[in-house]
Order: sequence, then structure tokens, then C-alpha cells
Amino acid sequence: MHIRKQRLLTPGPTPLLPRALHAMMASDIHHRTPDFIKLYPLVLADLKEVYGTKGDVLITVSSGTGGLEASISNFFSEGDTIIIASAGKFGERWAELAKAYRLNAVVLTAEYGDVVAPERIEQALRENPSAQGVAFQASETSTGAAHDVRAIAEIVKKTGALCIVDAITGLGTMTLDIDNWGLDIVVGGSQKAFMIPPGLAFISVSEKAWTHNATAKLPRLYFDLKKEKKMADKGESAWTPNVSLILALAESLKYIRSLGMDKLIENAELLAKATRSAAAALGLELFAPNSPSSSVTAIRSPKGMDSSEIVKGFRSQFGSIIANGQGSMKGQIFRIAHLGYFDFADLFAVIAELELVLYSKGFPVELGTGVAAVQKVYAEAALKPPAA
Ligand SMILES: *Cc1c(COP(=O)(O)O)cnc(C)c1O
Repeated sequence: MHIRKQRLLTPGPTPLLPRALHAMMASDIHHRTPDFIKLYPLVLADLKEVYGTKGDVLITVSSGTGGLEASISNFFSEGDTIIIASAGKFGERWAELAKAYRLNAVVLTAEYGDVVAPERIEQALRENPSAQGVAFQASETSTGAAHDVRAIAEIVKKTGALCIVDAITGLGTMTLDIDNWGLDIVVGGSQKAFMIPPGLAFISVSEKAWTHNATAKLPRLYFDLKKEKKMADKGESAWTPNVSLILALAESLKYIRSLGMDKLIENAELLAKATRSAAAALGLELFAPNSPSSSVTAIRSPKGMDSSEIVKGFRSQFGSIIANGQGSMKGQIFRIAHLGYFDFADLFAVIAELELVLYSKGFPVELGTGVAAVQKVYAEAALKPPAA
């Protein structure tokens, strides 16, 4: 009989920033009054700063998928060719969206755990010179693999196609130099590295993307980004916004700015590195060893052990919620998140829990070896060695 605190440790939703959560209590304001119209432009300006772009960044009231849908419906016409680099469950979502909107999708797939090489995209663009866009995930959350965004953007930039990035777990975990690399559309989501609950999507739109928007004929209404921009320029949102989440976002953006976006990214990178090091120390295999993302680390379950057992062990023994694999990866992998409001103390706990869960299932573990690996990464990064 022990106390078990519930800890939400998944790659979305992620742990909430307390002051953002508290700010939500003040949501008894109307969105067409000066109170809101003073707040909203500041939030949009901070969002632009955190994105690191001079272009527009708009907000839709939806989960991340609404932002992905808007990236299709606002910039294409029926029958347009789109090249999709699909490396997992979220890549498959791009393909589903393209199909739903009757685009001609050229889908390049990678095995789960791998990514699509930039050269394959280059070749697909050569074979489909009329392609209007290339869509992919910066970080494929379902497998823990990351695409080479910069190399892909360099290729797409030379063509008339838009570079469309699902960066829902890429933002805040990897460098994305939107303007210099030529990322035309970059989609984010509130429940990932932004440290607040689900319900908002963010979409950056480049000048090149607005040019496509001017002739794009797909039907749209709720997610009409042109209308959203027109209203945003007046300090308002097109429809009734999720005021409580806008208040939370204001606080989380303030926090991210005070920390520095580069530091938030470095934090995720270090936690990911420490997690990989712990996995190696425990004799566990990574699912995406060749191009691991810093948003989430996917680890293969030991041979003969269903990863659902590990996920269940975390919950029943410690109250910790970690992610299983999705789709056909369910039962094979478990995923440890690093994006947003995670720190080293969280990771010490997660790896200690992992050791105990594996130990209780009869997997040979020398208790403390994984934790020591994490401590070593922390010590190297954050501590000065003691004077000799
Ligand atoms: C979380 C996530 C999404 C968005 O999913 P929603 O449930 O609609 O918020 C999209 N792409 C990636 C890579 C994600 O991690």
C-alpha cells in the first residue's frame, strides 16, 4: 500500500505547466470585448517568436489534426498532386487526408522505425513536376523517428511545391529554421511541447503558401485560414475561440520565451540522449536507432514480453501513464516522451520505474544501471567536475 501519484508521461497530452493551468480559471471573458482583443495579438506575437518566423502563425480551435486538415484544404485544388513521405501512423494520416480531399497522392513509405530519405523525395519531385506540395512529419511520434527536415526543405524549395511539415511533436524538440530553410506550412499542437491541454492547433503560413492559397479551390469554411488571418490582423479570431486555452497558451509562451526556445529543444535532446543511454545500459533495443527523434524514444519490449504488460506495470505499480505502440506496433514497443514540461527528475523516476517493472516481470535487471546512465548524462551536461 503506497501512495501512487498519477503522472501523465505520454507524447501528447504532456505534463501541464502549473501556471498555465491556473490561468485557465480566468476564462470568464468574452471574445469580442477589449479584454480579449488586447490579449489575442500578444499571444499571436509570442507564438510567432517561439516559432521563429516572420510569416503568419494562425490558431485553430481543434486538435492537431484540424491543423493538418487546414494545411490541405487551404492550399490545394481537387486532383492536385501531393507527395507524402510516410514513416508511421501520422504519415498515414497525411495520406488519408489527401484521399478525403481527392488529391492525387504519391505516397513514399518507410518501414516503421525508418524515415524517408530526402533523395527519394527529390526523385518523386522529378517524376511529378506538377506536384503542388510535399508533406511529412518532422518527428513521427508513433515510431520515435525524425525526418531530415532541413535536407527535405532544401530540395522542395527549388520547386513550385509547398513544404508542409507536421511539426506537432517537432516544435520544441528539434531546430526548425522556418524562414531560412523554406518551411511553408508548419503545424503545431497545444498538448505537445506547449505544455497545455489539447484543443488548439497552430499553423505557420509562408508567402509562397499564400500564393497557392489564392488559387486553391478545395472547399473550406471553419478552417478558412484567409478568414482567420483577416480576423487575426484585427486582434480577433474568426470564430468563438477556446478562451481558457488561449489564456493557458499566453502563460506557456511566456515561460518558453523566458527559458528560450533553444533551451527547450536542448532539454528534450538531452533527455532523449539520456533515455537512449539508459536503454543501452539495460540491454534494451531502440525502435528507431538510425534517426531517433528527441520528442519521444520508442523502445522495443524484451523478447517474449508484450509491451502492454510494461505499460500496465507503470500504471498499476506507480500510477504513471506511458504510451504503448500504435497500430501494428502495439505490444511491441513502449514510448517515453521528452517534449515540453519534462525534466531530469521525471526521467530518473521513469527509468527507475522501468527497471522495477521489468524486474517484476522476471527480466534480468541490475537495479540502478539505467538510472546511473541517466545521471551520467546529467552530470556531463549540467555539473562541473569536482576540483581534483
Ligand atoms: C499528436 C500528433 C498529431 C495530432 O493528433 P491530434 O490527436 O489530432 O492532436 C499529429 N501528428 C503528430 C506527429 C502527432 O504527434
